[in-house]
Amino acid sequence: MPERPTLYIVIPCYNEQEVLPITAPQFRDKLRQLEEAGKISGESRVLFVNDGSRDRTWAIIEELAASDPHFLGISQSRNRGHQNAVLAGLMEAKDRCDITISIDCDGQDDINAMDAMVDAYLDGCEVVYGVRSSRETDTFFKRFTAQSFYKFLAAMGAEVVYNHADYRLISSRVLREFANFREVNLFLRGLVPLVGFKSTSVSYARAERLAGESHYPLKKMIALAVDGITSLSVKPLRLIMGFGLMVAFISFIGCLWALITALCGRAVAGWASMTCIVCFVSGVQLICLGIIGEYIGKIYMETKQRPRYIISERTWENDTKS
Ligand code: UDP
Ligand code: MG
Repeated sequence: MPERPTLYIVIPCYNEQEVLPITAPQFRDKLRQLEEAGKISGESRVLFVNDGSRDRTWAIIEELAASDPHFLGISQSRNRGHQNAVLAGLMEAKDRCDITISIDCDGQDDINAMDAMVDAYLDGCEVVYGVRSSRETDTFFKRFTAQSFYKFLAAMGAEVVYNHADYRLISSRVLREFANFREVNLFLRGLVPLVGFKSTSVSYARAERLAGESHYPLKKMIALAVDGITSLSVKPLRLIMGFGLMVAFISFIGCLWALITALCGRAVAGWASMTCIVCFVSGVQLICLGIIGEYIGKIYMETKQRPRYIISERTWENDTKS
């Protein structure tokens, strides 16, 4: 383990023109502070990943890179989503540094937790999870949905670190192993623990977004939860099986009952109960098919083996061109 590791702070950015000019200097200052404290080397950098933004984000990143060599940027060829953007940045960084810290660019995650993360690395941990200690600044709705998200994931057999999003330190050693995880369905916070190695957590208070708007409305949170569950666990398929058995057992009792009433000559024109049963059972079947379909969709995407990210531009390549 190098005494003064080279750190790359990896930051995904999607339509962040409002917040980037505010937070970029903060990241730069943090780097300087860590360097002055003798914890990281002078080769450390801030690496922005532009995730196909439609606004001035990439132009801002290019300006930053031109103004200070500590800023670097790569641009994805189109918007591929947060998880793929983080992966692109981590894979790009892994051969140039000793440790990476991934963090959102909106200033919600406390950059001062980075000190403790680097300390934990220097103490021998290869992965350090940033865990939110409180969510007071989030709206009640965001807090409630986010907490339900973690609980639901755990109940469905997808183990994730509670209240940990994508703010974490990963050593390049772990990233090189992680590069062998070839899945297209990315759910980083569930995959990183699977790589193993010594890990720990650092807690921090989560602040409000400094500017701009969240890109994770409820719809995307649900999509992320479904992705997380279906890419980490087959428990829902087992639940379907259990549920099917239960319905079959109830039906069996129902049949017996129907038979007995018929034999006793007390059969009634049970239209209402019939309709209810048919509706209920077909609803259950459709849900089950939907869950199975979700997994088949995943298999379909995995068999295609499409690239998980495509980098179209790098700020340091601009330098050589001009
Ligand atoms: N992001 C991204 N691609 C996307 C959506 C979001 O790279 O398609 C980035 C975004 O710029 C931010 C981070 O992912 O740095 C987290 O997004 P956001 O802050 O909107 O989510 P929230 O914190 O509200 O869950
Ligand atoms: Mg945010």
